[in-house]
Amino acid sequence: MDELFNKNQKILIAGTLVGGKTTDIFIDETGIIAGIGEGIRNQHREDADLVMDGSGTIALPGLVNTHTHAAMSLLRGYADDMILQDWLSQKIWPLEAHLTPADVYWGTKLACLEMIKTGTVAFNDMYFMMEEAARAVDEAGIRATLSYGFIDLFSPEKREAECKATESLVRHIRSMNNPRIRPAVGPHALYTVSPEGLKWCAEFSTQEKIAIHIHLSETEKEVTDCIAQHGKRPAAHLDECGILTPRTVAAHCCWLDEAECTLLGKRGVSASHNPSSNMKLSTNRAMPYHRLAAAGANPCLGTDGCASNNNLDMFEEAKTAALLQKFFWNNPTILPAHEALAMAGANGSKALGLPTGSLTAGSPADLVLVRRDTPCNTPLHNAASNLVYSCNGSAVETTICNGCILMLEGQVPGEEEILAGASAAARELVKRAQSK
Ligand SMILES: [Zn+2]
Repeated sequence: MDELFNKNQKILIAGTLVGGKTTDIFIDETGIIAGIGEGIRNQHREDADLVMDGSGTIALPGLVNTHTHAAMSLLRGYADDMILQDWLSQKIWPLEAHLTPADVYWGTKLACLEMIKTGTVAFNDMYFMMEEAARAVDEAGIRATLSYGFIDLFSPEKREAECKATESLVRHIRSMNNPRIRPAVGPHALYTVSPEGLKWCAEFSTQEKIAIHIHLSETEKEVTDCIAQHGKRPAAHLDECGILTPRTVAAHCCWLDEAECTLLGKRGVSASHNPSSNMKLSTNRAMPYHRLAAAGANPCLGTDGCASNNNLDMFEEAKTAALLQKFFWNNPTILPAHEALAMAGANGSKALGLPTGSLTAGSPADLVLVRRDTPCNTPLHNAASNLVYSCNGSAVETTICNGCILMLEGQVPGEEEILAGASAAARELVKRAQSK
């Protein structure tokens, strides 16, 4: 069975469900959806290398996680139920100080495995030692936009080092020459990066034509400190530094006011909603989805790192987003199922500038098949409703990225080795941190 994975081949998926209709999908040897429709199986049955029986499944575009720190999967469950600042300073940062490149490799391998198993085919990552993350993504077969977490702590010396680290990662990723892996610039947040650092990141992103990945207005403290320090709210401060562009993904966006939503819309920014992380760390406010959408910003979805979620399941995240929006804004009509699904898929593709996100002829074959013959999909009055409100990622059966099969009927090659490698890395990391 192993010979079916991680390579381009002509695949015919016969009789899956797309938009409520029985549909065949033909993927050509370049990884493109060459045909999609009712009855095209007869045309392609002969020349397909692999014919999959799609009856019993729903097909949808592969999901896109627009904000995470993949290697933090090693910290899953290490510290929960704490105040954000205590959690970071007492638990997360001391452990992170002992991270090695091998830990980042195994943590990212584990994260990619979890994403593949739950239907995610692309992610937007910000962390450290990203060369090792790139190696893990290369092996996993999914897409990623990778940025080095730029943190200058307002020091000119540190800024210079961060600029060098950013340039070095961009060079490294370009040298890999893997079209699935793209570099980005990752200024961590306005409270960890100086205005000079932010301006450098903005200029570098323009010069290199690469994305910007930043945290924005996660907490109320970030807003009040920013006003005290800079005399303006966070979005206006970032805009003055050139950070708000159509290539920018701003994570969290909890505390944006009306004018900031308008500004993000005007600049064409993608706002990554991270509802599980926000609820777990109690940010006390939900991203104003309706205002951002009305203003023309691109609302998308992310899980944040595994230490604050604690998984990478985008189906679960879509449900949490829909529920949180309705609850917080006291309106059950906000973020209906089909919009939550678009946030997790097509909007994420747009955020990362990917040509994916729809099941149409000529698009790259980034798609997942979800089992239909499960309790969570029975009955199936409305697939979007089931996918968001009753399923989770465990209903995903097959995952295809760029025409290559990454999971087939629940099987991912090398899964046991990844689980063992990541478990050992996490065990040793905690041991090192505790013995210092
Ligand atoms: Zn984050």
